[in-house]
Amino acid sequence: MNRWVYLFSEGSKEQKDLLGGKGANLAEMTKLGLPVPTGFTVTTEACLYYLNHGNHLTDEMKDQVMAAVEQLSVKTGKRFGDVTNPLLVSVRSGSKFSMPGMMDTVLNLGLNDQTVAALAENSQNERFAYDCYRRLLQMFGNVVMGMDNNDFEHRITALKKINGLSFDNELTADHWKQIVSEYKEIYRKKLQREFPQNPIEQLYLAIEAVFGSWNNQRAKTYRRLHDISDDLGTAVNIQEMVFGNFGESSGTGVVFSRNPSLGDPGLFGEYLINAQGEDVVAGVRTPKPIQVLADELPKQYSQLKEICEDLEKHYHDMQDVEFTIEREKLFILQTRSGKRTSKAALTILLDLHKEGIIDEKELVRRIEAKDLEAALHPNFDEQELKNHESFLSGLAASPGAATGAAYFTAEAATEAKARGERVVLVREETSPEDIEGIAVSEAVITSRGGMTSHAAVVARGMGICSVVGCERLTVLEENKAVVGDKVIEEGAILSVDGTSGRVYFGEIPMEEVTNTVALDELHVIWDRHAAIKVRANAETPNDIETGMALGAVGIGLARTEHMFFERSRLLQFRQLILADSLEERLDVLKDLKEVQKQDFKFMYEAAQGKSTTIRLLDPPLHEFLSKGTEECREVAKELGKTFNEVKRKTDNLAEVNPMLGFRGLRLGVAYPEIYQMQAEAIIEAACEVTLEKGYPIAPEIMIPFTIDAEEFARVRTSIEGAIQKSLSARKQVLEYQIGTMIEIPRACFVADEIAKHADFFSFGTNDLTQMALGLSRDDSPRIINQYMEAGIFADDPFQVLDVAGVGALMKLAIERGRQVNPQLKIGICGEAAAHPKSIAFLNDLSIDYISCSPFRIPQAKMTLAQTAVKDQKQVG
Ligand code: PEP
Ligand code: MG
Repeated sequence: MNRWVYLFSEGSKEQKDLLGGKGANLAEMTKLGLPVPTGFTVTTEACLYYLNHGNHLTDEMKDQVMAAVEQLSVKTGKRFGDVTNPLLVSVRSGSKFSMPGMMDTVLNLGLNDQTVAALAENSQNERFAYDCYRRLLQMFGNVVMGMDNNDFEHRITALKKINGLSFDNELTADHWKQIVSEYKEIYRKKLQREFPQNPIEQLYLAIEAVFGSWNNQRAKTYRRLHDISDDLGTAVNIQEMVFGNFGESSGTGVVFSRNPSLGDPGLFGEYLINAQGEDVVAGVRTPKPIQVLADELPKQYSQLKEICEDLEKHYHDMQDVEFTIEREKLFILQTRSGKRTSKAALTILLDLHKEGIIDEKELVRRIEAKDLEAALHPNFDEQELKNHESFLSGLAASPGAATGAAYFTAEAATEAKARGERVVLVREETSPEDIEGIAVSEAVITSRGGMTSHAAVVARGMGICSVVGCERLTVLEENKAVVGDKVIEEGAILSVDGTSGRVYFGEIPMEEVTNTVALDELHVIWDRHAAIKVRANAETPNDIETGMALGAVGIGLARTEHMFFERSRLLQFRQLILADSLEERLDVLKDLKEVQKQDFKFMYEAAQGKSTTIRLLDPPLHEFLSKGTEECREVAKELGKTFNEVKRKTDNLAEVNPMLGFRGLRLGVAYPEIYQMQAEAIIEAACEVTLEKGYPIAPEIMIPFTIDAEEFARVRTSIEGAIQKSLSARKQVLEYQIGTMIEIPRACFVADEIAKHADFFSFGTNDLTQMALGLSRDDSPRIINQYMEAGIFADDPFQVLDVAGVGALMKLAIERGRQVNPQLKIGICGEAAAHPKSIAFLNDLSIDYISCSPFRIPQAKMTLAQTAVKDQKQVG
């Protein structure tokens, strides 16, 4: 016999695969003794069997469902279909991963023409009973039989209009009775059959509909967008109904145990008095903030609060809880880990840790790269914002800032995105059908709905900024909306601030956020776990400051040739390489030394005394030579030389393959005075900052492109001579180191020889990859893409370290280098260093640091710390 059905009392939270997330958590809460309405789960395996075997419930499944219904009868004292004391149930989907709004729910199942009368009698509330019945007809018609919900809703709107009423709760029992018979008529006309009066038939059809909904279009789209496998199936949860629409001491709501937008502690959510679940999420009535419940139903509020706190402790995470209060009795209908914004995610994890709910390793393990990324993303520039007046405001549902063109349907938004536009989706409210449109949008604005409405929840989950419930906004037709006397035409540019809930016309510039309080705390924690330090590749004071703010322990690579890209500097550099004699060159170098000294002083100050590795010039010459006749003419004019002189020299210096030409140390050997000048500038700047600022600067001078130990040794001797001259002229003592980049395969093989002369190694894996693979770092993307598409390469070796080739060379160099000098400091500063996949490999090498561009530092630190605590999961 196959087991297709489990009572809530039989399962646990570990069984998400079999019972789905909702079912497993309902079982867990039942086990914890929380007030969960009794029920049972039909498994995901039953769903898969159903979908793969002709879409019908087997007799075995039906028998097990009926046996479980019998158990519900025993527990509740009510019977399914009984005309005096009827049992009513809800039927809800629930897959392993939560897919909010993607799947279907039917409430009040078990009602028919007889049982509705019993419900009216038992509850002494006829209005309530017929409201429940019409809801069943409507949901059953829509979800199970695929009818259009508007066909039903229009009847209510028409009835309210005829009677001059505004709200559903003003409709009387007789109104609902009338609606019930109209609904039955619609049902009959549309489907050519009667609404099934037999509750068992209702139940089987509803279970089949939930199983079938696994394959509806919006569920498929959601799975595609969230990388959820199609092979999981959904479970079905059948649960005794509890009624939030029983009157003024009943209600229903959704709460988060912490603010899912900002992460603040304390309950956050909404509820409606005298309503059923779908009223809250549908955004039809505007719900009240949960704190108001503390006044309206104080006892239930504190019970709810306590339960949420207990659930957080039990699950070690922020929870999203659905509840219903029936005549003052609180029931919990669902709990799950709450979706949250990136900002909230970091704040919540840090708070959970501070409150002792998760340990430090769990905190490190659970931070997601996307949340970290978002913490580093731009917001609107504060100053700029002051010059703009918002024309629309609403609830700040999902923070962040975005600008795009307004579109009013998901289709129009998708098309505009395909044309390359940035899009803001503007809707009255969103529904799961809009999911594709939301996914392509930079921001979502709605005129209706609260903080837990579909638009708010989905946008937050996707990290898309969103403002909902903008009451002054009226979406008029497919290509227009109005706000008072202002018109939003299709394509109008809007700037949306999801943090303040304000919307502006036109584009507002963004500001770069370089750090947050949460990041500061995280850096301290990551540093405690990571085995390898992270430095910044940076040379401008601005980049250095960003690097430091983002957690760098120093500078791992300052490329001095980058200091010559600016026009006036470029000219000086050209003067240097076009000089005809040593005298002329020395003349230029004298000026350049002063300029470089200033550069280095700024750098040391920006790094505030932290380790600073400055790389001597490594200019691929073609980047600095004038390009054509016209440019040669201009350069000649600017340098006071003749055109012919400049042209001849430029032609002489031109290389067929400049990337393998006159680079790095080759320059140092041919023109020792250039490196000498740089070394003097580095040392003299360090001397001055040490005196002026009071923190000792111990520069690390890095020589690029070394091929050979003798080559390196000669240049070292040459620059050390210059350094010593500088120091003795100043009568100052200064610590410094001279090391090399390892970026040529030969250097890896002769690393033991080089290590005799070098104080440190830094792997330049950009060049090392280029040379190890024989693929140009500049021209190869096409080849690499082809190789990745063909499945020859799994990754781009310039982005993810090629462990088999380049990694092997690194291992060899480390081994040989440390044979000679066990203390040899070793780093890596190529682009691939910061990639999480590279870090998995680098973490096992005995290197001291990786160096990467400033904005990649936090993620690199995070990954290093996560790699260190990977297998040490929190227990409990
Ligand atoms: C490298 O080659 O990896 C490196 C960091 O140097 P550059 O990119 O400047 O050649
Ligand atoms: Mg290089």
